[in-house]
Amino acid sequence: MQFDRRTFIKSGVATAAMAIPIAAEAAEVAQFRLFDQKSDSAYFAAGFGKADITPDRPVPTIWDSSVATVMDPIHIRTTYFRSCGEQVVIVSCDLLALPTWFTDAVKHDLTKLGIPQDRVAINCSHTHTAPQIIFFRGTESTDDTYNNFVKERLVQSVKEAMADAGPATVGFGKIDAPLNVNRVQIGRLNQVNTLETPTGRVDQQLSVIRIYQSKSQKAGLIYNFAAHALTVSANPHVISADYPGYTSGMLEAEPDIKFAQFTQGCAGNMNPRIHGDQTVTSQFARMLADYVKKACTGISMHSDPKLAMKTQAVHLPYGKIPSLQEVNSILAADEKKMTSSEPSWDLLWARAAKKALEDGRKFKNVDATFQGIRLGDIKIAVLPGEVFAEIGLAIKQRIGGNVITMGYSNNDEVGYIPIAEQFPLGGYEVENAPRRYDLFPWSPKIEKYYVSRAVKLLRSL
Ligand SMILES: [Zn+2]
Repeated sequence: MQFDRRTFIKSGVATAAMAIPIAAEAAEVAQFRLFDQKSDSAYFAAGFGKADITPDRPVPTIWDSSVATVMDPIHIRTTYFRSCGEQVVIVSCDLLALPTWFTDAVKHDLTKLGIPQDRVAINCSHTHTAPQIIFFRGTESTDDTYNNFVKERLVQSVKEAMADAGPATVGFGKIDAPLNVNRVQIGRLNQVNTLETPTGRVDQQLSVIRIYQSKSQKAGLIYNFAAHALTVSANPHVISADYPGYTSGMLEAEPDIKFAQFTQGCAGNMNPRIHGDQTVTSQFARMLADYVKKACTGISMHSDPKLAMKTQAVHLPYGKIPSLQEVNSILAADEKKMTSSEPSWDLLWARAAKKALEDGRKFKNVDATFQGIRLGDIKIAVLPGEVFAEIGLAIKQRIGGNVITMGYSNNDEVGYIPIAEQFPLGGYEVENAPRRYDLFPWSPKIEKYYVSRAVKLLRSL
């Protein structure tokens, strides 16, 4: 199915509004009210849930309109925290990215389990070999049936995590994992494929939240690293979770680890240093899993950590918007270049931009959400989009201590969030990608905006 951006969004909203039968809904509420009881919520508890979202039929990906080959399964993993009436849910999906209409619809569904919408963070691993849900101009295919299936499975994983919740302790560990490269400074996939290349400016921090559950006498892990999930490069015409799925699988095979959830960091300009066939993906994943285990050694565990979460509206600033005249001349040139009956994505962009300007759409800023989570002395910034690593690093530096920065969360149609110095240099992340995720580029002020808003939010927890 082909969509323009508007019908694409509308179709998502229509799907979101589809109601669950009332009887089923009531049964769910009754079942999960059990957790509201005072005796149950007095202590800090954590639980884990996992759901398979591997498609059972051909689906569109960012590379192809129809992919049937499954190289490895894809999952949703969820950690649920509860303490003194407060609940926090962190969800990770083996998907490229998710748009607001999707994450909002899921959060709405989760209210039926008694979880407030502003206590849910949804992160994507940014694997490129997954079914396409987000709008990306030129690859607008999506599959409503699959999207609904993912929503149901996500809710299922949260239910499972809630049912699994039990008394737990929490600790934080970190280590440098030299596995990523700055693709804007050093080179992209076709230029970099060895661990010996220089890295450029990178965020190598691999962070681990270790959650020890007393009833299972096992640990659940949430680990965070910043690198595009692009190690599957030899044959990308498959469904694969890429390295995050492999690393989680390897960790979950350890006798003392019950569950391992990957969260993608600020990886807008971070690529993996190696990529290729399945052997290379496994090799990369093994190294990452070993760093996770190293980061876990000697972690001191804390009982009854303070649990808090805030969700805040932000308004991301647009940059220079071209005039209708400028767009018209680009459109005329693109139309002249058109050789096949399939319009190129830049031609599609020019048509959409013309229409938006003629419709009088305002381009001052875009609404999105930032989230902050506190888990004892651990602070997590949950940010939308493909955030450049320098922004994550600046947030970590200004807060100090145990800080994790997650990109690819909740409103990923905001696309790339580059640093100010990249704007005059141009390139894919600054110029082209904004036309594929939406229409127009950000202001260079967006770097400072991200850092200052995230720092303020984390400090307020
Ligand atoms: Zn990307």
